[in-house]
Amino acid sequence: MREDERARGLDRRLFLGGVGAAAAGAVVAGATGGSAWAAEDPGFEALPREMQAPEGDVSAQALRTFSRIDGTPVYYWRGNRGNTVLRDWRCTQGFYDRLVVWIRDLRDLSSDGGFGGVKFLVSAGFYVNRSGQHGAGTAMDLDLVRWNGGRQSSMLDGHHAASDRTLRRRYLAVDATCRRRFRYVLDGWYNSAHRDHIHADFGGLPTLCQKGSSSDTRFVQAMCNNFMGSGLAVDGIWGPNTDNAFGQAKNRLGISGNPHADLNAWRNMLARVARHGFRDEAF
Ligand SMILES: [Zn+2]
Repeated sequence: MREDERARGLDRRLFLGGVGAAAAGAVVAGATGGSAWAAEDPGFEALPREMQAPEGDVSAQALRTFSRIDGTPVYYWRGNRGNTVLRDWRCTQGFYDRLVVWIRDLRDLSSDGGFGGVKFLVSAGFYVNRSGQHGAGTAMDLDLVRWNGGRQSSMLDGHHAASDRTLRRRYLAVDATCRRRFRYVLDGWYNSAHRDHIHADFGGLPTLCQKGSSSDTRFVQAMCNNFMGSGLAVDGIWGPNTDNAFGQAKNRLGISGNPHADLNAWRNMLARVARHGFRDEAF
């Protein structure tokens, strides 16, 4: 977790106006999970063989049972909306540890935007008995975030496509926090299977902005449209217009490193996107 703490300190220095801090970003060793963004989780369908958990993998490593992430309850609303009965979720210890890092990010970044504490989360699942990252206990399907004071971001209600831009920006903020800590992240812009949740997993770390990734490209296009009015087609194809808009966003957010190659540059950019999203501010 040391690199995460360092990255967090770096983010805060950047946010507070430190110049050139990104250049000091240390190279963080991450598990490079295979080659291709082409192997993105297509939702609830069968995954390519190379993305499936090896036989016996899950039974070999103990799954941890939890009802809260770092003290915050995680509810299940599929089929029973508003339900606040605690339930047992399961994932690997390593994934749980990452969930803790993620929710602390979410709290910090939304707090900077004037939000209260995170009251609860709603999920559609973590470990699920099927192939892929869910079957390995290394994935989360996020349905909703509720803050103290009543504000929420509801993937379940398709807030990525809400008529209210404030809600779309807030969704992008939550999306950005996921992208700081997980890969792959699949959202409502990615495909219709993800119109009602954000999928976040451990495949293909480290987190970088990949031009060849449809998921990353759609996120960037939606981000540029909602914060800068770029008017891009959200088609997952990284063309010249997307490249120009991304460069503009990077400049306006004061990111000096290369988010396509430098993990800290991308994480810092995502933190700034999240802060703008929670504050409902253009950039
Ligand atoms: Zn999922």
